[in-house]
Amino acid sequence: MARQYDLVIVGGGWAGAVVAEEACRSGLRTLVLEKGETAGLIGSNVFYRPRASSIPSKRLPDPVQETFTLRHDSRSQSFPMRSLGAFLAGRGLGGAGLLWGGISARFHPHGFRSKSAYRVLLERPWAKDFDYSDWPIGYDDIEADYGWAEALLGVATTDGLPSERYPRSRPLPGKPIGMGRKAALLAEAASAIGLNVTEMPAAVSFEPYTNPLGITRGLNGRYGYSLATPLNTLWPAAAATGNLDVQTGHVHRILHQSGRATGVVYSDETGERRTVSSQFVALCGWTLNNVRLLLLSGIGTPYSPESGGRVGRFYANHIGASAQGFLPAPVREASSTNAAGWANSDFDPGDLSADHVGGARIHVPGLTNLWRESPTVPGDAPQWGAGWQEAIKAHAGRAANVGMLGEVVPHRHRYLDLDTTYRDAWGDPLLRLNFDWLDNDRRMVRKVGAKLDAILRQAGASVSKSGTELPDRYDTVHYTNSHATGGAVMGEDPATSVVDPDLQSWDARGLWVVGASAFPTSPAPNPTLTVIALARRAARALVRQSVGARMSETV
Ligand SMILES: Cc1cc2nc3c(=O)[nH]c(=O)nc-3n(C[C@H](O)[C@H](O)[C@H](O)COP(=O)(O)OP(=O)(O)OC[C@H]3O[C@@H](n4cnc5c(N)ncnc54)[C@H](O)[C@@H]3O)c2cc1C
Repeated sequence: MARQYDLVIVGGGWAGAVVAEEACRSGLRTLVLEKGETAGLIGSNVFYRPRASSIPSKRLPDPVQETFTLRHDSRSQSFPMRSLGAFLAGRGLGGAGLLWGGISARFHPHGFRSKSAYRVLLERPWAKDFDYSDWPIGYDDIEADYGWAEALLGVATTDGLPSERYPRSRPLPGKPIGMGRKAALLAEAASAIGLNVTEMPAAVSFEPYTNPLGITRGLNGRYGYSLATPLNTLWPAAAATGNLDVQTGHVHRILHQSGRATGVVYSDETGERRTVSSQFVALCGWTLNNVRLLLLSGIGTPYSPESGGRVGRFYANHIGASAQGFLPAPVREASSTNAAGWANSDFDPGDLSADHVGGARIHVPGLTNLWRESPTVPGDAPQWGAGWQEAIKAHAGRAANVGMLGEVVPHRHRYLDLDTTYRDAWGDPLLRLNFDWLDNDRRMVRKVGAKLDAILRQAGASVSKSGTELPDRYDTVHYTNSHATGGAVMGEDPATSVVDPDLQSWDARGLWVVGASAFPTSPAPNPTLTVIALARRAARALVRQSVGARMSETV
């Protein structure tokens, strides 16, 4: 079969866009197959507020056609998740980069060394089945890529990493956007109880921003601010090279032969099955889709706690908990974006004398009632009729919310595999999440959540929902976050990892598996800045390999 493209990229979100820009600029003829809409989007400033109800259904996977299943342990029945609150995977060019909040924090240096950092705690009997490993790269290896990513996104604040200890290779671009009024009030309360507060680092601005690729992103007419998305940041630069071809196509298999990727099988817009061959494939479909496509394609050994294996192992995400309450008086909000908030990293890394492992970040969004399901009235107020109307009036503008993101510890029994019962609309097995909360998660939430409550109380607010609570069982029906990590992790050793430190598959050379699927652990900060930085690292390795291949072809 004649080779049509040098590179096929599966998925058009942040990971796919970074790889495409680097590859196209280096002269690789690149085809992007994206299962959602693709036409007429490049350069647009469109995005959707991160709340499921404001996102058009065409931008989210149709859970009737394709979803994942969940079971809490190997003795339970799995169920297909047909209503998604958390894990809002994106669909269409731009991916979840059109849904995200733009919070863009670096992982702190210890985040790449979790196993070493928590060694003392990992020796405790309750940590017996924890499956921690250090990353094969450290903070210093990725620092320059972080700097590049921040310049791309226009991130203007540092998130508490002291520059004397951790010098930056590039100055921060952009202008800080400041805090919303409620966030500022809660920041004052947090400082008063001894917590360090830093403005949220974010890919958001109140004026147009031109990135180092020369692409200017404008304001979104609906929301009045500008958010970096793959559409207004990277895709215009890739398209301008003339080497980019973007098509709507749903990839079903990665083709490989004798340990090398050779192309993909996909359904085109009309539903017809097609095969496209290429020298390289970059799988950029987001964590769950990356792992599923590897399993469906028979690339790498599937993991199970009984038999071992690699693909699906080290699955993690973030614990999301929040304290909610009501301020004594209404605060008229000045901000229009969640990014105008603050974060605190005092619990990241976690305390080594604690009864749990893992770091956590406290954060207050610039807007309340936007992405969390915050109450509009206290739980004990009447829920209907005149009493409810009175309560709504009395509490208008007073709702307050303090949240946390906690590291989910990889564990022998938390993993991804193919479901043995449920299939998608094309007849392929769905991905199964084997996951439930552990006591470790509850202990972390009890400790850090107490601070969330304390911040509200210090601000004079009531606490209508304590931050120390985690639901009895894990579910993805309510929004917490969409930060799934692991399953195709990077490592130095092909016996314990799925991809090498440049994210190239050990089992099918020429295949790059790019995204948070490569994270061996899930440090507390939001993942996307690290996804972008790692994608750049992977893309440069891919381009280096293609140049080497071209030179040997011409010799
Ligand atoms: C509501 C919300 C808020 C968020 N806020 C933040 C935040 O503030 N900060 C932060 O760091 N992170 C945030 N995130 C997470 C962030 O959006 C993701 O980490 C990031 O977008 C992942 O990029 P990606 O390219 O790996 O995947 P995606 O953006 O999901 O892109 C993958 C693309 O691949 C396509 N695809 C998948 N499978 C196939 C297939 N088989 N064939 C063809 N195409 C396929 C999908 O349609 C999709 O467009 C948020 C996420 C959500 C949903």
